[in-house]
Amino acid sequence: MKQILTAIIFVAMINAGAKAQKPITTWNKNQVIAHRGAWKKNGFPENSIASLKEAVKIKCFGSEFDVHMTKDSVLVVNHDPNFQGMSIPNSTYAELLTKKHANGESIPTAEAYLREGMKQKTTKLIFEIKPQKLGKERDLYLAERCLQLVHKLKAERWVEFISFGYDICQYIVEKAPAMKVHYLTGDVEPAKIKADRITGIDYPMAAFRKNEWFAPAKQLGVVLNVWTVNKVEDMNFFLDNKVDFITTNEPELLFETIAARKK
Ligand code: MG
Repeated sequence: MKQILTAIIFVAMINAGAKAQKPITTWNKNQVIAHRGAWKKNGFPENSIASLKEAVKIKCFGSEFDVHMTKDSVLVVNHDPNFQGMSIPNSTYAELLTKKHANGESIPTAEAYLREGMKQKTTKLIFEIKPQKLGKERDLYLAERCLQLVHKLKAERWVEFISFGYDICQYIVEKAPAMKVHYLTGDVEPAKIKADRITGIDYPMAAFRKNEWFAPAKQLGVVLNVWTVNKVEDMNFFLDNKVDFITTNEPELLFETIAARKK
């Protein structure tokens, strides 16, 4: 009897889990990913909560942000490994809090950033895991911590990972095969990306201009994204080549460019 009861509870728990993971279908349908949030037009700091909110407000498909780890292993959002002149990997989180962004925000933790992003269901959170240049072990520890955070907050449906670290991408594929992860460096052909079960190539413009990768990527079902595209002529080139996403510092201009093509 006890075994049957345990089995019933187990099945009920699985069903509850499945219900909680019901896919979100309200994501904005466009190619626009705001690089470090939508900061430029309004003069917000890059990678600030304000820039994330703006990307949501202007209806980007995604808002990209960069995650580093402090000396005391707190995940924080910033582009460079330095925040206001302080080395992130060599500072504690408390030390980083002694400085502020120009708009008065403190450096956001990745947790605060995700919690803010999860208040809405229209803009995806494009989570870049930054290699730490402190060896593979530290990078994989960072990847593990990032993944744990996403699981803790149940943020899986909001987040797509990106990284310059191939080891980091492979770690995500292995530990969270249902999650999306895109490789950034631009040096691996689509066939290998596909074979390694990485979701997409999110490459610099030059990598696409140098290599014939649009057609093979599409054929293989490898998602195409390009960074950082800020000029109209480049936007049109990549839209002509039907990339899935364009990462830009000028999301408003990309929206205008897309709208102009429909006229
Ligand atoms: Mg980035």
